[in-house]
Amino acid sequence: MVQSLHSFLDENIQYLKDNGLYNEIDTVEGANGPEITIAGKRYINLSSNNYLGLATNEDLKQVAKDAVDKYGVGAGAVRTINGTLDIHDELEETLAEFKGTEAAVAYQSGFNCNMAAISAVMNKNDAILSDELNHASIIDGCRLSKAKIIRVNHSDMDDLRQKAKEAVESGQYNKVMYITDGVFSMDGDVAKLPEIVEIAEEYGLITYVDDAHGSGVMGKGAGTVKHFGLQDKIDFQIGTLSKAIGVVGGYVAGTQELIDWLKVQSRPFLFSTSLTPESSAAIIAAVRKLMNSTELHDKLWDNANYLKDGLKKLGYDIGDSETPITPVIIGDEKKTQEFSKRLKDEGVYVKSIVFPTVPRGTGRVRNMPTAAHTKEMLDEALAAYEKVGKELGVI
Ligand SMILES: *Cc1c(COP(=O)(O)O)cnc(C)c1O
Repeated sequence: MVQSLHSFLDENIQYLKDNGLYNEIDTVEGANGPEITIAGKRYINLSSNNYLGLATNEDLKQVAKDAVDKYGVGAGAVRTINGTLDIHDELEETLAEFKGTEAAVAYQSGFNCNMAAISAVMNKNDAILSDELNHASIIDGCRLSKAKIIRVNHSDMDDLRQKAKEAVESGQYNKVMYITDGVFSMDGDVAKLPEIVEIAEEYGLITYVDDAHGSGVMGKGAGTVKHFGLQDKIDFQIGTLSKAIGVVGGYVAGTQELIDWLKVQSRPFLFSTSLTPESSAAIIAAVRKLMNSTELHDKLWDNANYLKDGLKKLGYDIGDSETPITPVIIGDEKKTQEFSKRLKDEGVYVKSIVFPTVPRGTGRVRNMPTAAHTKEMLDEALAAYEKVGKELGVI
């Protein structure tokens, strides 16, 4: 006898529930702005990736509506058949300009982009050195390529140098890539790109930076690679269009040659329908906004610094984030979950993140301040932090 689907699901769902690992999903009623409504109750929203508030921006909404009038709601085909509309070309030209590269290619999501790009270039004769805290989509993209995956200790440049040396000198591999997040989403720390580039040049590594949390945030909005002035030194600049950009999609920016290759070789480009025209139009408008003005970027950092200062003054451990991502480290897993639940009772929506997403004993709630929050909203959140922290003996 083989196990039935029902028996498999029942057993495993029960296991998750018994171990506090089963995630109940909240539904947001209406827009995912600085304040949200869930089950009829209003919350200060400190959980979205809508860093610049662009997901609900009035200009972008209008641009998207106009694009629907001109193009309809869908692209109609995959890019390589006849689903490349003029607005997709304009989108990719705009993304290349934004990133300071020769060219760019857009995908349907950031996740999809990592599925697409890694396996288009790396194969079973190659090795990929990968930071141990890289995003799930990088891990899956690496697996899909069938290259040998070599885990590198988080942002440990000695470990990277040692493992790069071993991989290259072993003579076992045709190509070797180093792949890292630009900004790490759990702690808000930034990849050490200048040292990474130095090591990559020494050993001839291909470099791949997924800057999903960096674009719109670092480098005056242009991202972590530009923050360090390394646009010409990083082979793959990956971004998502769903976080600071506020819409949906992902992209690779790089040389014309690389982008030409991805457009003939990467499977989600060949076999999955292109981004909708209204998404593409809204993304173009969002990116132009970022290139024309640092206003939203500055507001984001101002709000982030305000929240961080407030939390520090209350006596919280907020880790070593270098970006607006603001963890409040509680430690114990159960206490972290209780803390998040109490904040929710007090009208602050902030998610708890515990083992296995982060190491055991480092449970935290992760605050995502945005440019769209007002100081009053942040003060309201800080008042809840003070009340709940004292009540639970955290501060
Ligand atoms: C969020 C994220 C992604 C996924 O992006 P989507 O556009 O939401 O699919 C990929 N990589 C990293 C590093 C991320 O943080």
